[in-house]
Amino acid sequence: MSLALLAITLMLGATLCYVAVCAASPFGNCRKCRGMGHALKHDRKGRLKRGKDCRRCHATGKRIRVGRWLYNRWARIFRAGTDTP
Ligand SMILES: [Zn+2]
Repeated sequence: MSLALLAITLMLGATLCYVAVCAASPFGNCRKCRGMGHALKHDRKGRLKRGKDCRRCHATGKRIRVGRWLYNRWARIFRAGTDTP
């Protein structure tokens, strides 16, 4: 019984932490380019060069967090539904 309580507490804590992260910093680093905004490639001498712009984040290196994306959708729908005079 206490084990189930512990599991619930941990899950609740993790969820609250994620919500706090989404509120504090709604944009995370892009997973594909790891926040660089572009790929890295080598030239023939082995030096690093700037590669193509990242298509996933449109070369910003940032992407919106899933939690924040969901909140934004919910907030837009809520506003659209309640703003009628
Ligand atoms: Zn990217």
